[in-house]
Amino acid sequence: MKALAVRPGVTNSGEMIELAPPDSAEGAILVRGLAIGICGTDVEIMEGAYGQAPADDERLILGHESLGEVIEAAAGTGFSPGQLVVGVVRRPDPEPCDHCAIGEWDMCRSVHFRECGIKEQHGYAREMYRLDPQFAVAVDPRLGELGVLLEPASVVAKACMLAVHFLKRTDVRAKTALVTGAGPIGLLAALATRYYGLETHVVDVVDSGPKPDLVRDLGAHYHAGSAADLDISPEIVIECTGIGSVLRVAGAKAGPGGVVALTGISAVPATEEVNLSLFNKKMVLENKVLFGSVNAARTHYEAAARVLSEADPAWLGRLISRRVPADHWPEALERQTDDVKVVLDINPRARAA
Ligand SMILES: [Zn+2]
Ligand SMILES: [Zn+2]
Repeated sequence: MKALAVRPGVTNSGEMIELAPPDSAEGAILVRGLAIGICGTDVEIMEGAYGQAPADDERLILGHESLGEVIEAAAGTGFSPGQLVVGVVRRPDPEPCDHCAIGEWDMCRSVHFRECGIKEQHGYAREMYRLDPQFAVAVDPRLGELGVLLEPASVVAKACMLAVHFLKRTDVRAKTALVTGAGPIGLLAALATRYYGLETHVVDVVDSGPKPDLVRDLGAHYHAGSAADLDISPEIVIECTGIGSVLRVAGAKAGPGGVVALTGISAVPATEEVNLSLFNKKMVLENKVLFGSVNAARTHYEAAARVLSEADPAWLGRLISRRVPADHWPEALERQTDDVKVVLDINPRARAA
């Protein structure tokens, strides 16, 4: 069977390789890989800037945003053939820390966690793989191929759930959310804050292409430019760019008592020294919470599955701006104008006309 592999640390080392079918020891559920969502992490791994192969291998199979179809599932797994499934990305450290031991692997306290397709664990860009049921999340069959959005949506669901959790330190209900960045994570964040019934504002630098309409079609407000110019006082800010200057503006824009979730990491080298005294003053005097959020546990995947099930499938379909067949995989990793989410089809199912 085919798999898309890289040699971590080596620039442009990606190649389609031939592998033996997965060993039954890998998990009780045999899955046919259908599609992989591509994100900035995959591009960084392909550039040799990130990623780590498993200890016994010099290659890493790429792909962390997955969608597969169950081929075979042992009795008692809760899965059956034909079901759509997404594999969890983060896996516990070999000697689980306190968090991993109770399934909170997204909050792992050690550096020894593994991440499928990223760090010391093979990913899902292969024609077949096996999953342990504890790392398999069922996808609503009505979502079909849109189920590939579940992993990025889980990252957003976690940030939103934590923001709501931190807001509960007062009894006042949140009304307004600000999302900075209208990439796939920002757009899914806007979907989630609309799902929670919040008036939602999204800021990005672009004023053309598909993003403004995608935001407006959620019933949210799109602003091209800087959050500094907005006359709003949001209780929840979800920062999705990872750019320091945007973070400072977003943090300042959060209303008194507000909560700021940081979900992005910028590829810009972090060499800029900034004076955080003013930022500190705003955070202290306005009782704000600033927190970082990465990855997701099972509960967040399940919350994301609910958000996606309630969403307009036509809107979700517009998030997938390009689909690339496996044989043309290098095109999936090239950024093109107006790309939102690019999907690599591993084993495309017959699509309804
Ligand atoms: Zn990703
Ligand atoms: Zn851990």
